[in-house]
Amino acid sequence: MADDAGDTNEVVLYERRGPVAVVTMNRPEFRNAQNSKMTYALDAAFYRAVDDDEVKVIVLEGTGKHFSAGHDIGSPERDAHKTFERKASLWWDHAGKDGEESRFARESEVYVGMCRRWREIPKPMIAKVQGACIAGGLMLAWVCDLIVASDDAFFADPVVRMGIPGVEYFAHPWVLPPRIAKEFLYTGDRMSAQRAYELSMVNRIVARDDLDGEVAALAEKIAAMPRLGLALTKKAVNQAEDLQGLHAGVDSVFGLHHLAHAHNAETSRDSLAGMDPKSMKAASGGS
Ligand code: ZN
Repeated sequence: MADDAGDTNEVVLYERRGPVAVVTMNRPEFRNAQNSKMTYALDAAFYRAVDDDEVKVIVLEGTGKHFSAGHDIGSPERDAHKTFERKASLWWDHAGKDGEESRFARESEVYVGMCRRWREIPKPMIAKVQGACIAGGLMLAWVCDLIVASDDAFFADPVVRMGIPGVEYFAHPWVLPPRIAKEFLYTGDRMSAQRAYELSMVNRIVARDDLDGEVAALAEKIAAMPRLGLALTKKAVNQAEDLQGLHAGVDSVFGLHHLAHAHNAETSRDSLAGMDPKSMKAASGGS
């Protein structure tokens, strides 16, 4: 029984179930591709969960068959040109600027900035992943503390096909062994939930029908711990990852990422090398 249900934003849903806040991406017709509207709605939902003293754990999930197909690079509601009130950086508004002056500003805010902001949420976050978790979808799952996947889940970052060295939040060689991270990026192949589990990128795999129950039970169990203890533990492990170079690594690769965008814009049709969801899917042999 939900304590605090029914406040629905069309692209993100928020529901509190006892000590657990469930934040749901809700664009199933576009496999939960993230446009900026969704990014800011997610941020608002997380802010609400952090501010609610009754919430101990946050679950992030996606409606429908897939967790997330990544950033919105082709739906009718793509809104990369629009202005939103910035939350994650003090860089200037990207709207109305040209080239990298726009692109770097926008991606600093909505991609790297938001991912860092969410990784530092002082409450445990569990990503509940079914179906596709692609590129920008990986960033969302990776900033969560735990990942529970159904056995039909798969993970991929195919953006090397655009000439780009991985998605903006470059955690690949921290969440995967470096040699596997290279294979993952060089091939763009889908990694199965089983393989991701063997490599410690996900915590648990369960049958699709058991996913809701498994995540709810795990969240309830964690919620029995003291709030400050959880927050300090999260910070402790995050600090350890940053001492292993995650924070500085993301910054340095973000420069390479934008070198690639700029090269594409200079030599091709656009900063994505003319690729869209259809051509990306066709190139990967996906269905
Ligand atoms: Zn980018």
